[in-house]
Amino acid sequence: MTGTRARQVIVTAASVIDGKAIAAQVRADLIPDVTALRDAGIITTLAVVLAGDDPASQVYVRNKVRACEEVGIASRRVLLPSATTTAELLHVIAELNADATVHGILVQLPLPRGVDTDTVIDAIAPEKDVDGFHPENVGRLMAGRPRFVSCTPAGVMRLLAETRVVLSGATAVVLGRSRTVGQPVAALLTAADATVTVCHSRTRDLGAVTRTADVLVAAVGRPGLVKADMVKPGAVVIDVGINRLESGALVGDVDYAGVSAVASAITPVPGGVGPMTIAMLLQNTILAAKARLSSRGDRGAPQ
Ligand code: NAD
Repeated sequence: MTGTRARQVIVTAASVIDGKAIAAQVRADLIPDVTALRDAGIITTLAVVLAGDDPASQVYVRNKVRACEEVGIASRRVLLPSATTTAELLHVIAELNADATVHGILVQLPLPRGVDTDTVIDAIAPEKDVDGFHPENVGRLMAGRPRFVSCTPAGVMRLLAETRVVLSGATAVVLGRSRTVGQPVAALLTAADATVTVCHSRTRDLGAVTRTADVLVAAVGRPGLVKADMVKPGAVVIDVGINRLESGALVGDVDYAGVSAVASAITPVPGGVGPMTIAMLLQNTILAAKARLSSRGDRGAPQ
């Protein structure tokens, strides 16, 4: 023994919330529903509209189509050139709305420059809007009568549920107030009885707010924004951000290595929220097909 006493440093790493594994389970659990619909004469079908040649969008669409195939959902890809106009997109949407064999319609965003995205989203029949972006579906969520909850927020909530995070009475902080992620996540956390604070680009002293969070959801789009000293020890951290670094690496909004040493549970990027988003899209498409089945009643018309 030397005179130096060995000091034991205990580093407790957060448990990893494995979105890839949870999403695989969700997808597997959806297969019997697709089969039952098929037995009732309904081939659950998702139409995916992709305008332009954005490489990231192409990858997203490919992944969505592949996930559909895996659970037996039929997909119909509508590929349009970058020069597509709002009017042309409206025409495509009108056709898909009228097609009784299509249950879900997804328009991959972003749309080419010059296209009026809101007008296109507004044109999707709300009962086929499996992305949950149509104002009617957004309004229903806010009114506490959700139909299609948009896929990423639904995925965040499912991850929290599968991880058995107690939300009732918890303090939750959401970073980002976008209409598609931050705001619906905040609404869903509120509905689950958490006390929710939404932060955004004008929030002063972000760390002071984030340190109050038992549950911290980051949806900003800035790599490494959330550092270890901004996280309350033992917090659950959900990283929605997807950022491509110059090196080509894909990272979230959270400094994963640093925050892992402070949080009790954390989602990785990739392999956290991303796979859940796609699983929730499939779930919404099945929901749309089931609604078609029940609206068909006993008339028995094939569709
Ligand atoms: P957005 O650009 O629409 O919104 C970003 C939000 O962050 C805004 O509300 C803005 O006010 C806020 N913000 C900006 N700087 C901030 C700061 N310093 N502190 C706090 N808030 C700040 O983005 P979005 O569409 O909501 O997406 C957010 C991130 O989530 C992006 O990285 C996106 O790629 C990712 N995303 C991931 C999935 C998925 O499936 N995992 C799905 C959708 C979006």
